Amino acid sequence: MESDMVMHYGGCHCRRVRWRVQAPSSVVALNCNCSICSMRASIQFIVPSEKFELLGDSKEFLTTYTFGTHTAKHTFCKFCGITSFYVPRANPDGFSITLRCVDPGTLTHVEIKNFDGQNWERSYNQAFASSSQGAGC
Ligand SMILES: [Zn+2]
Repeated sequence: MESDMVMHYGGCHCRRVRWRVQAPSSVVALNCNCSICSMRASIQFIVPSEKFELLGDSKEFLTTYTFGTHTAKHTFCKFCGITSFYVPRANPDGFSITLRCVDPGTLTHVEIKNFDGQNWERSYNQAFASSSQGAGC
């Protein structure tokens, strides 16, 4: 079940925000229909915070948007506007990595699951009852 752990690199469009994350080469990513993910057409996978590391002076270029419960920290690059990662509501101790912001070459397989973020509480409970993959925004 566990595939090999590899180091993925990625970041925002203008490359001012860069990070690396240790994760399997095969991941389960969530396609969420909540208010913010649907606008962004965002697909993401979640990693524990200790697996994630910001590189260089990325922090300088990050700014944060919150709404609703303000648990999720929607970090984005204040220069190019891209959310390459953020702190999700379901996993305040982890990071949500935007699938399409991972540099090409290290993800060998991606399984995309729909996450019903419009009905967040119900989806969250189902996701955690049925698997350890965690849930989205
Ligand atoms: Zn940027």
